[in-house]
Amino acid sequence: MLPGTVPEALDMLASDGAAIPIAGGTDLLVHWPVRVDAHDRTYMDISRLDSLKPLRWTADVLTLGGLTTYWDVIQDERAKQEFPLLVHAARQVGAIQIQARGTWAGNIVNASPAADGVPVLMAYDAVVVLESRRGREEVPLDRFYSGYKEMQRRPDQLVVAIRIPRRRYSYQVFEKVGARRAQAIAKVGLAITHSGAGWRVVAASVAPTIRRCPAVERLLETGTPIASPEGLLPAIAQDVAPIDDIRSSAHYRTRVMARLLYHDLRDVWRKLG
Ligand SMILES: Cc1cc2nc3c(=O)[nH]c(=O)nc-3n(C[C@H](O)[C@H](O)[C@H](O)COP(=O)(O)OP(=O)(O)OC[C@H]3O[C@@H](n4cnc5c(N)ncnc54)[C@H](O)[C@@H]3O)c2cc1C
Repeated sequence: MLPGTVPEALDMLASDGAAIPIAGGTDLLVHWPVRVDAHDRTYMDISRLDSLKPLRWTADVLTLGGLTTYWDVIQDERAKQEFPLLVHAARQVGAIQIQARGTWAGNIVNASPAADGVPVLMAYDAVVVLESRRGREEVPLDRFYSGYKEMQRRPDQLVVAIRIPRRRYSYQVFEKVGARRAQAIAKVGLAITHSGAGWRVVAASVAPTIRRCPAVERLLETGTPIASPEGLLPAIAQDVAPIDDIRSSAHYRTRVMARLLYHDLRDVWRKLG
């Protein structure tokens, strides 16, 4: 299927409940050789939906389109100034070829616990805008996932936009720990922001989904002094559930997360101590 407009695409999704949108194809096609069971599904190439490509600024919001790529954000001067973590994370996704094809919406719907785009979007309180023939729905990204690869999106819905409120940030950092600097899947990822809306601490690769860390956020909000990385372990244990897998062990992931949180925020913890 090759729709030329969003309404056409929504009609196609409504009429074939098993149709799968393809944006950049950088996740879907990687699994193609082994997903033989999925070969006879209907695929809908959404790359001609030009209205979903641009990112747009208004007084209060940056809106990424359903087809905005990492490269679009890397090239945007205002994004560099106002949302540096978006650019920082985008530059760490694969290499330039992937950054040019891969979309933020694809990163969200692929729902990898190790994704790089999702943590920074979540730390900026992004909202996922979904559209179907039944209407429009908006879901805050930090409530979008309900389990491993499970999310608040019906098969007839297209992600048409990702809305990010514009705020003044007094603190922002993105960390990705992998086996090497480029072309690596995160063993641990962290995105941390502070604004008038409070602290946001978002962790990747340490749970079945990317998620916020409410216990760590509470330590920051309540001004609890922390004297060492080990002092963070009880809060981390409440927030995440890392596993041993081919890339790392649960023990390593937990320790690295504690060290990153302690050292990134050491000036904050010192002031509290
Ligand atoms: C070599 C290589 C390196 C990579 N490195 C990284 C990395 O470092 N970090 C990282 O996070 N990812 C990485 N990826 C994964 C991938 O590039 C990203 O997740 C990318 O953002 C996916 O976007 P896409 O447009 O290609 O998605 P697609 O592959 O087209 O789609 C992915 C999923 O999203 C769905 N989808 C796409 N768009 C929409 C929409 N608008 N509405 C509803 N559903 C939609 C599709 O149906 C599919 O389920 C890498 C991939 C490759 C091949």
